[in-house]
Amino acid sequence: MTVTDIAIVGVGKIARDQHIPAIAGSDAFRLAATVSSQGGLDGIPNFGTLDELLSARPDVAAVALCMPPQVRFEAAAKALAAGRHVLLEKPPGATVAEVETLKRMAVDENVSLFATWHSRFAAAVDPARRWLSDKVVRHVTVTWKEDVRRWHPGQAWIWEPGGLGVFDPGINALSIVTAILPNPVHLVSATLDFPHGRDAPIAARLRFAGVAGLVVDADFDWRQTGPQTWDIAVETDAGQLLLQSGGAEMSVDGAQTHASGDVEYPGIYRRFAELVAARAIDVDLSPLVHVADAFMLGRRQTVEPFED
Ligand code: NAP
Repeated sequence: MTVTDIAIVGVGKIARDQHIPAIAGSDAFRLAATVSSQGGLDGIPNFGTLDELLSARPDVAAVALCMPPQVRFEAAAKALAAGRHVLLEKPPGATVAEVETLKRMAVDENVSLFATWHSRFAAAVDPARRWLSDKVVRHVTVTWKEDVRRWHPGQAWIWEPGGLGVFDPGINALSIVTAILPNPVHLVSATLDFPHGRDAPIAARLRFAGVAGLVVDADFDWRQTGPQTWDIAVETDAGQLLLQSGGAEMSVDGAQTHASGDVEYPGIYRRFAELVAARAIDVDLSPLVHVADAFMLGRRQTVEPFED
């Protein structure tokens, strides 16, 4: 198998938790460099800026962009213009239009562009899509409630414009919903709770509509202490499908059919290897479009201030 040298850009939480182990376990990629303001990793050449990496290391054919979304476009555009394959962490950008621009650039440069949605690689998501493919879906309830202090300690960017607030985890739920439902849905109403003085919401309630009276209700909340909830319940003409643990577990009418551990990022790198081999593009913007619609259509409420 061809091994592609890859660089990680932005060595923060998700790079350390997931990308570095997934690349280490991949036959298709070798971690050849990092771009980090913090010095990078022991034994791996580090560059202080992406420009330095791109000019010094033409052998690094691919980059994984693991920084916050507000600064992803500039890095992606530079890497594509330099003829490198690009993997985008989720969300793929701070706006919908900038990712459309990246798609055009990737086509022009004949390189791969992969807008990853890690939750789509959770173990039960594809089985859920297959189970639902011949059912009539009547109602979907998404409950995505977690403790922001536990999962995002000290991450200032997440509260800034473009950081998405509670939609940073909520978009993972939307990436699953858009992958498993047989037909598309569109937002019809939303309420977004902004803590006093913050530029991003801490909670949101969304309603989507689809074909034949389908309704999808989503409840995102970052103030949940104790047990954390990442569930999607789908009522159909043939019973209830329940996805839990962010898509890792599936049951039908209470009987478990699938359960598995952490397989998301190995799946991402297997898919990226396929794309690189074919110089192909995999960019589905539907989860980001739904979030953009929520900011466009949603009613805004100010709630009590939130301090980290
Ligand atoms: P993070 O730890 O706060 O930041 C990631 C790294 O990006 C930082 O360590 C820094 O790299 C670089 N960076 C930060 N601010 C920057 C800026 N203004 N300009 C340029 N580089 C900057 O964030 P994270 O939790 O890893 O999240 C990064 C992305 O992954 C987000 O889009 C997030 O939604 C996604 N994600 C996160 C998780 C999670 O559990 N945290 C899970 C899935 C996906 P250096 O220190 O190396 O310079």
